[in-house]
Amino acid sequence: MPSPNKQEYAGPMGSRRVGDVDFYAFHGLEALPGLLHGVSTRQIDLAAAGPEAGPNLERLREALGLERLVWVRQVHGTHIVAVNGEESLPAAQADGLATDQAGVGLLIKQADCQAVILAAPQRGVIANLHAGWRGNAAGMPAKGVEFLSQRYGVAPDELYAAVSPSLGACCGEFVNWRQELPEWFAPFKVGENHFDLEAATRHQLESAGVRPGRIFTSGKCTVCDQEFYSYRRDKTTARFGTVVALRE
Ligand SMILES: [Zn+2]
Repeated sequence: MPSPNKQEYAGPMGSRRVGDVDFYAFHGLEALPGLLHGVSTRQIDLAAAGPEAGPNLERLREALGLERLVWVRQVHGTHIVAVNGEESLPAAQADGLATDQAGVGLLIKQADCQAVILAAPQRGVIANLHAGWRGNAAGMPAKGVEFLSQRYGVAPDELYAAVSPSLGACCGEFVNWRQELPEWFAPFKVGENHFDLEAATRHQLESAGVRPGRIFTSGKCTVCDQEFYSYRRDKTTARFGTVVALRE
């Protein structure tokens, strides 16, 4: 007889309704005490430009029971901001957030780009990185690991990592790849013009010292999966988001 939870555990992520907000969560991260995370859906648009963004961000914060939700102006770079006290960050240009403060939700907004969660809950340190192809090409996943090591003294092999739903290899077409992607991307070329960005991210994380068994990927392509916003599919500014926080 099939287990009632069979479908729930069919993939690396499960759907969760918290309050009135729909999320996806990584089973691998849910198993870690002290950590809270969620990936929102196209149910709510988190884009800063949208008129509904303010209320939707508040709705997200409230559903997760967070004291604060912080985000930055993402510019496809590799700058990472450490969140310590009460600073307000939306004006800061950066593509990564890190903290050792409980109750602070680190939000990355996305539509095909990855959010890469790095977490050492046993050490009370987390990060959330924005990495599209530009971020990946610039080494953002590895830079995140390095940042946590230098700033908080967290060794790479103490980290867990999760790569959010994002552009899948199925839809990762880069017609100008010769100009846009670095040579080290060659092993992740899966078709004439297609690349597996998730594999490139995993490779970077492993090369930076994260244990392979502690890296979780979503198995979800945002272009194929209508539950998420996709810039490539919709050509709009709408964004879903990935949040990670340390429990209080
Ligand atoms: Zn796809």
